[in-house]
Amino acid sequence: MKSIVVRKNKFGELLYCENCGFFHLSFSNMLIELSERELRAFHMAVKEIDIDYWNNVPFNQTIKRKFPISTSQENLVLVFDFYELECLKELVMISNLKRKDFISFFDIDYVVSLN
Ligand SMILES: [Zn+2]
Repeated sequence: MKSIVVRKNKFGELLYCENCGFFHLSFSNMLIELSERELRAFHMAVKEIDIDYWNNVPFNQTIKRKFPISTSQENLVLVFDFYELECLKELVMISNLKRKDFISFFDIDYVVSLN
C-alpha cells in the first residue's frame, strides 16, 4: 500500500493513494476521500467562498467559524475560520494539474514540502 504525500501543513495533509486511486484529505478532525474530479470540485468550492459576504452577514459577527463548505451529504456542512480556510486552500490547490503529470508533480512537491 503506497500513498504519496501531495501537500502537508499544520492542520493536515493531502495524500494520493495508489491503491484505490483516491485522494485522502485529512484536515483537523475530518477525513475525506475524494476522486480527482471531486478534489477539483472541492478546490473550486474552497476557492470560491465569498469571504466578504460571510464576514458581513449580521448573525455571523460573533461566530468563530463563519465560512461554510457544503458537502455531498446535504445535512452536513463544514465550517472554517479564515486561517483554517487559507490552510485548507493550500492543501487542495491542484487545479492546474494534468492527470498524467500527477506522479512527477507530486514527487517534486513532496521534496519541496520537506524544506
Ligand atoms: Zn486508498
